[in-house]
Amino acid sequence: MRRRPLVTIGGVAIATLIVSLPLGAQHDVQPSKFTRAPMVQSPPSGEVEVLPIRGNVFAIFGAGGNIVVSVGSDGALIVDAGRAEMADKVLAAVRQVQREWAVRNEPRPSGFGAETRSSVADRHITAPPKPIRYVINTSADPDHAGGNEKLRNAGHTFTGGNVAGNIADATEGAAILAHENVLSRMARETEGKAAVPADALPTDAYFVDFYKLSHYFNGEGIQLFHTPKAHTDGDSIVHFRGTDVIALGDLMSTGSYPVIDVAKGGTINGVLDGLNRVLDMSIAEFRLEGGTLMVPGHGRLVDSADVAYYRDMLTIIRDRVEDLVKKGRTLEQVKAANPSGDYDTEYGSTTGPWTTANFIEAVYKTLSSVRLKPDTTGGKVPTAPARRK
Ligand SMILES: [Zn+2]
Repeated sequence: MRRRPLVTIGGVAIATLIVSLPLGAQHDVQPSKFTRAPMVQSPPSGEVEVLPIRGNVFAIFGAGGNIVVSVGSDGALIVDAGRAEMADKVLAAVRQVQREWAVRNEPRPSGFGAETRSSVADRHITAPPKPIRYVINTSADPDHAGGNEKLRNAGHTFTGGNVAGNIADATEGAAILAHENVLSRMARETEGKAAVPADALPTDAYFVDFYKLSHYFNGEGIQLFHTPKAHTDGDSIVHFRGTDVIALGDLMSTGSYPVIDVAKGGTINGVLDGLNRVLDMSIAEFRLEGGTLMVPGHGRLVDSADVAYYRDMLTIIRDRVEDLVKKGRTLEQVKAANPSGDYDTEYGSTTGPWTTANFIEAVYKTLSSVRLKPDTTGGKVPTAPARRK
């Protein structure tokens, strides 16, 4: 199942739509190791690709982090905004998906009595795309939230009429939903960089376990769940309850180990808790295949078998590192023990922004901090005291 190419997943009829983009835009694909077979064909650099998932929910690949979009009579809801420089392409893709949805689903006048040239023509005119109502950020990362400002303000354009698009009013444009740690991180100035513009900030932040839209949107309930201390301390997963699609954010990436951003509160045990929660929420169609479909932050569409495999892989590596931590090994000793060796051809990398060494270090650090500060973990506390070096 997990090696199935993108185009056959879930038996979904694939009508991929390629939106051509200018060359030169950044692309996220890591250089493959020689030994790794390609598991999914990514869109060419600088292009975004749309994949119908189920019903009115689609995925957009190639704009940075993967994007999930719901289109329909209520407008568009977009989970993650991609990179800032890809926002125009994302907008074009969303509008295209909305148009196609409208052609297939919106009722048209049926034509009675005498046909005239104009009455026939009217039946073939599609309504302009409905506005983007919501943007949801699964984290504050620039490849997931970079397009916030443009997508939010595109709400002006759709709803605008005579309203000028440059009025930065919180009542205009799309709402941006995120966990409050995303809001505070984006609002704060970090590492000497300027805080993001006001229009890019979440307009609605939640700080409890979950958040839900108060009404059905495009015919289904949509819920955000906080997965604490996973990729960062502000991650959300988003469940489309009717179509049964879950946007996972950077809790999972099919081509690499999960990015655990320790400086921003990420931990290996938080990632595992999040994946276990996703597995609790998902229901397979038959023998672990199909059923709930999930879009990871990077990589291809997955089902619960894929998530279970990924969870098992991470659990095994976590346990190996934890064992070494309990034995008092240093980080260098743990790296030398190669605790992820049997998975590195599939998920590892020696180059790029997130290498195997980065991953092992993050696992080691967060397990070591469990050992040193058991009161802050909310998780397991090793019983055997570690030997001092
Ligand atoms: Zn990401």
